[in-house]
Amino acid sequence: MVKPLSLFRYYPQPHSALILNHGIANEQQICPEPRPLRHRIGCVDVTPEQAGTAPANGPRIAVLVGGVGGARFLQGVRELLPEADVSAIVNVGDDVWMHGLRICPDLDTCMYTLGGGIDTDRGWGRVGETWHAKEELAKYQAQPDWFGLGDRDIATHLVRSEMLRAGYPLSAVTEALCNRWQPGVKLIPATDDRCETHVVVSDRDNSGERRAIHFQEWWVRYRADIETHGFATIGADGATPAPNVIEIISTADVVLLAPSNPVVSIGSILAVPGIRGALRTTEAKVIGVSGVIDGKPLRGMADECLSVIGVDTTAEAIGRYYGARSATGILDGWLIHSTDTADVPGVEVRSVPLLMTDPPTTAEIVREALDLAGVKP
Ligand code: GDP
Ligand code: CA
Repeated sequence: MVKPLSLFRYYPQPHSALILNHGIANEQQICPEPRPLRHRIGCVDVTPEQAGTAPANGPRIAVLVGGVGGARFLQGVRELLPEADVSAIVNVGDDVWMHGLRICPDLDTCMYTLGGGIDTDRGWGRVGETWHAKEELAKYQAQPDWFGLGDRDIATHLVRSEMLRAGYPLSAVTEALCNRWQPGVKLIPATDDRCETHVVVSDRDNSGERRAIHFQEWWVRYRADIETHGFATIGADGATPAPNVIEIISTADVVLLAPSNPVVSIGSILAVPGIRGALRTTEAKVIGVSGVIDGKPLRGMADECLSVIGVDTTAEAIGRYYGARSATGILDGWLIHSTDTADVPGVEVRSVPLLMTDPPTTAEIVREALDLAGVKP
């Protein structure tokens, strides 16, 4: 007999042994073998020539970004330097398969924000969204029922999933999707491999036994309101950076860390082997921007993530957590809000207004970051 749909979760039986004995959510989707790159999707062409056709002018800038905070920061970069060669290396730790669709929340937030398709009130998803598919799925009792999948958004996931199944790597798929949205910066996933943030929690339904759930379940379903023990980036061991990521960091004139979540956005990018090393060895200056102002994140739950890893929610603590390149860390400079103070050994700290109210205001933050790096806009 076929199980009712409500009994299917978006992940199957937890896999017991691979990570801390806590299991891996969504494990069936970790691709067993690479697929051949021989298929072609008629509607979208993903040749490298199509990307970055405009000649670049100005400094080469690499930016590590997550979702909402990263996207807004990129708007400021584009506002200040419309002609520059800007590559955004985007977190894929939030990515997940649901209902047979590959969902990449941070890539999509960046793409929709820079492409003018974002719902600016919510900060994520498409403007003018409707939710008919979600309602229909609920009537089938299909799980998960706690994730907001909008109808317009689903079209993006359908194209992406079809291309992935045809064998295109995520970086090529992203390039194809960006042909429509023209974000004005190159959006590059940190890795083409499955590399997903999972969270080790006490299972309320199972006498507090520890298990790993996907980051989306922790964030969206539980709103981080569940006993939490740590984060694990599943797939990181075997992951490699997406094509050109290392070269982009190594040859940039400046590398910026957006004010994105230090743990589950920037931290998950750094979990991809090779990226942290590239930040440590690039000749460019690496400048970070604090997403925490006056002891609070501007939006989101960075404080919940930081407390799990034992870091205070202050600009100083996050700066120290990233650490100085002159020691074992990744920062040369650290921008904090004008009302904050921070002592980060080995790192030049500068206080400037850090509210990303609109792109022109955010452009001034970027200008300060470049100035701290000694790079002319
Ligand atoms: P997510 O993936 O959608 O959670 O987004 P990110 O990780 O890219 O960004 C979330 C972070 O952006 C949060 O920690 C916020 O504190 C930070 N953030 C949001 N708005 C602002 C702002 O106006 N200024 C600064 N400095 N940080 C902000
Ligand atoms: Ca995110």
